[in-house]
Amino acid sequence: MSSLQQIENFIAGRWTPPRGAEYLTSDNPSRGEAHLRLPRSGAADVAQAVQAAQAAFPAWSSLRAEERADWLVRIADGIEKRADEFAEAESLDQGKPVKLAKDMDIARAATNFRFFAGVIRQELSVAAPLDARTFSYVRREPIGVTGLISPWNLPLYLLTWKLAPALAYGNTAVAKPSELTSLTASLLAEVLREIGLPAGVVNLVFGLGAEAGQALVEHPDVPVISFTGGTVTGRKLAITAAPLLKKLSLELGGKNPSLIFDDANLDRDMAAIVRSSFLNQGEICLCGSRLYVQAQIYESFLERFVHEVQNLKVGDPRDPATFMGPLVSREHLHKVKSYIAWAKESGLKVLTGGDAPPDLPANLRGGFFLRPTVIASPSRRLDQACKIQQEEVFGPVVTLSAFENFDEVIAEANATRYGLSATVWTESLSRAHEAAARLHAGTVWVNGWMLRDLRLPFGGVKDSGLGREGQLDSLHLFTEPKTVTIRYGDAT
Ligand code: NAD
Repeated sequence: MSSLQQIENFIAGRWTPPRGAEYLTSDNPSRGEAHLRLPRSGAADVAQAVQAAQAAFPAWSSLRAEERADWLVRIADGIEKRADEFAEAESLDQGKPVKLAKDMDIARAATNFRFFAGVIRQELSVAAPLDARTFSYVRREPIGVTGLISPWNLPLYLLTWKLAPALAYGNTAVAKPSELTSLTASLLAEVLREIGLPAGVVNLVFGLGAEAGQALVEHPDVPVISFTGGTVTGRKLAITAAPLLKKLSLELGGKNPSLIFDDANLDRDMAAIVRSSFLNQGEICLCGSRLYVQAQIYESFLERFVHEVQNLKVGDPRDPATFMGPLVSREHLHKVKSYIAWAKESGLKVLTGGDAPPDLPANLRGGFFLRPTVIASPSRRLDQACKIQQEEVFGPVVTLSAFENFDEVIAEANATRYGLSATVWTESLSRAHEAAARLHAGTVWVNGWMLRDLRLPFGGVKDSGLGREGQLDSLHLFTEPKTVTIRYGDAT
């Protein structure tokens, strides 16, 4: 145990061991062995972090927007300066390829801070005249201490997507990263110390969701919670937060459909369809996991898709040629494999994948690897009510199902409790617009995927979440409007 790297909570600008002196371990998923000790924090640690954040709030919220923007840019610079180190840590902890971590996660983390720095520099407020002697304006006031809870799939990317707007709009923060992937949050704290961010503005408490996370949601002095994670957890948070009348943003699970019409430009877009299914080991809430293929092209698509998927390199995340590393944890691998086993038992066909790559080097054989897996039915059509069409697998597993016509595929795509995103692959403008209007999803992409404009709302409908995050949406989440109406002058 003693050779494991150890991290501590970051409270009031200081590394702070947990009050209970208990630690958890998290695994290096490539090797399947523990590599990190992290605090198993409880309510007392959360209370200490909230106190620190409260103490820092008056000074931080009183800074001019320009000054806060400068701090955010310094954080972005600090991340970029150590981008290689961040990328290696994210890959070590999460399993994703180092190259992907650097190009996607770490780049986006820095962008999150730069983006909100730019936003607050540009902000204007509007005055509304009521009559000749009366006018109103709206003050957007920071709320106080924000509680930020993030998942393991895009650890730094999603933590900073919450932290950057929370800070930009004048709040302080207590964040609880996933117990499976705490390492880059700890590196971020190092950056905050290096640049001298005022103590208590950002506090990190590590530990289990049911303990540290729950304590953060229950804390009476944390009036807003931004949460990204699973739908079952989101529901628990809502039950805890509702009687406390907290503001709550819930970014939850997905079971996203990809609609591939017979006129899709597959020469141009096949690589993007494959990527949208398996990037980050399929552990992105936005990955397409149900592929609906128009009957006329079903066989040819299937053959081509499976061929491309078989060419994806699975293995050592440190190798720049690797497309997929291991899944995040033993438990998660087990869960994902249980869906594959269910599919086989139910008479479905595993067209490729379903097991670990056979050629892993000896030092990676204990890792949580799974080849990208494609499942279909011998009848070409899947029962939409079946388990694998309804439940979020959140791994490198997709299903293929044939459809005959537009109305049918829209009905099938919408026939889940989720509604995070959908992709449509077609050259027909009217099909694209009609599908975008009729799909139940927070985001619809046409002939593309993961094309994100941070100014725009992001979130899900139905069981995929409540609320949105984005330029205006995060402003609304992390501030309270106060309407001020002034009557002036004297008629006499
Ligand atoms: P999870 O719900 O298990 O955990 C998410 C976070 O919540 C972790 O930090 C965890 O410790 C904490 N937590 C757990 N129980 C808690 C409780 N009772 N109170 C407070 N906090 C608690 O999710 P996960 O397995 O880490 O992440 C995978 C899920 O996240 C998938 O369902 C995926 O679709 C979803 N996700 C959604 C989005 C989105 O933007 N909609 C993005 C990424 C991931």
